[in-house]
Amino acid sequence: MPRFRQSLVWFRRDLRCFDHAALYHALKESEQVYCAFIFDKTILDSLPRHDRRVEFIRESVAELDAELRKLGGFLLVRHDDASRAIPQLARELGVEAVFVNRDYEPAAVTRDAIVAERLVKDGRLLFEFKDQVIFEKDEVLSQSGKPFSVFTPYKNAWLKKLQLEGSEFFVRAYPVDQYRAHLAPASTVSAILSLQELGFEKTNLADLQISTGMSGGQDLVDDFRERLARYDTARDFPAVKGPSYLSVHLRFGTVSIRGLARLALDNMRGSAGNGAATWLSELVWRDFYFMILHHHPHVVERSFRPEYDAIRWESGAEAEDMFRAWCEGRTGYPLVDAAMAQLNRTGYMHNRLRMVTASFLIKDLGIDWRWGERYFAEKLNDYDLAANNGGWQWAASSGCDAQPYFRIFNPVTQSEKFDPEGKFIKRYLPQLGALPAKHVHAPWLAPAELRPKDYPSPIVRHDEARKRTLERYAVVKQPAEK
Ligand code: FAD
Repeated sequence: MPRFRQSLVWFRRDLRCFDHAALYHALKESEQVYCAFIFDKTILDSLPRHDRRVEFIRESVAELDAELRKLGGFLLVRHDDASRAIPQLARELGVEAVFVNRDYEPAAVTRDAIVAERLVKDGRLLFEFKDQVIFEKDEVLSQSGKPFSVFTPYKNAWLKKLQLEGSEFFVRAYPVDQYRAHLAPASTVSAILSLQELGFEKTNLADLQISTGMSGGQDLVDDFRERLARYDTARDFPAVKGPSYLSVHLRFGTVSIRGLARLALDNMRGSAGNGAATWLSELVWRDFYFMILHHHPHVVERSFRPEYDAIRWESGAEAEDMFRAWCEGRTGYPLVDAAMAQLNRTGYMHNRLRMVTASFLIKDLGIDWRWGERYFAEKLNDYDLAANNGGWQWAASSGCDAQPYFRIFNPVTQSEKFDPEGKFIKRYLPQLGALPAKHVHAPWLAPAELRPKDYPSPIVRHDEARKRTLERYAVVKQPAEK
């Protein structure tokens, strides 16, 4: 027997209507279920007016409404402050409970606490469910019962928990379809706000062929399935179609993390075993950083390892000029510049290049990792606080299980190793198109007649920068080695 007569599912970063924890529980527990999405002014008002993510969300919300209608329901859509709109909508509809999937970002946690308080004041309930990750919060702990801060033992414990308690249980899909009859039927024709009505302009999302919504996510999964076996060998080379490109879909929940984990697990024993195992590790990194953010919310502002807050970063006009050159891909190091061009033009950057560009900003230019973190946050389609902060603190050596401070990527040797023929570089820096491969990684060393006129000289010498970085990090050397 359902417990509630009517309830509401509030969609946020889970824009799908299959394998959805909150939707499943709401449908199971209620006679009638409304679905809603709020374009949250609190978040949207601070974004640039051209933002691929807003367009991605808008398109995905439209598809979610269409798919819910096929199941017999519909999506109520508002443009408002969510912490006010949800309690108000709950009142208007007269629902007894609101169901959501849990969000781990500190601002979202605060918002949800406000919503819960307002709902309770009105005599309603808020139910939260785990949906974004396989394991959350305290589900994977060390033998002494503490949260892990090193990845490999975390991953081993993660895999053990999955196996011991039965992998089927944690990765099983929530069968939404079987309760579809409980969806509240549409009383209106579909009318999703346009981008213009939301105050945004069209971006190059369609030109980039970034497919949105559940259907876009499924297309990428189908495409990646064929490449999974090669993931471990192909994933580090930015000119090769190696990774899944699913990050934006994971960010907005147009794919299910359980479905993706099943894809990896189902292939672990076959001929795709190494590729599948390596890819599963990446999904575990994702859980790891959500867990770190939950237990250590101070990472949003400060170093995970407090002793790294003693570092003095470059500041003033010169540092700002260097930073702008990095943002605009004018450092004179082709791999770094091509990577920044990829980010600026497409909103995506290959994982190897995120590591290279982050290391370059921090350890070649001596600039505070938070500047780079903010720039990525503004530009990345898949921007996710937990993973982005984790990635930046990894590169800055200030994070949990980070790169040691003395490990400093050489942007030229990284280029030679991971883009040996310069294919990726030339794709984004056509002005280097005529350079032979052996010169494309360090054009300033090419014979004068080959050097392109319209490409800058390096803004810093890597060997000198390396020395300065080792000195800069000396302030944290002692405590870090204890
Ligand atoms: P695949 O290689 O196909 O991996 C599959 C999925 O695993 C990814 O979609 C992602 O959800 C997860 N994943 C992979 N690597 C990592 C990782 N190192 N940490 C956490 N999750 C991972 N990832 C984001 O999703 N959002 C970010 O804002 C983000 N910022 C980053 C910043 C820096 C400085 C660094 C070094 C890494 C960052 N990453 C971020 C992690 C990683 O680069 C991207 O997840 C990956 O490049 C996305 O491409 P893909 O979907 O093709 O990945």
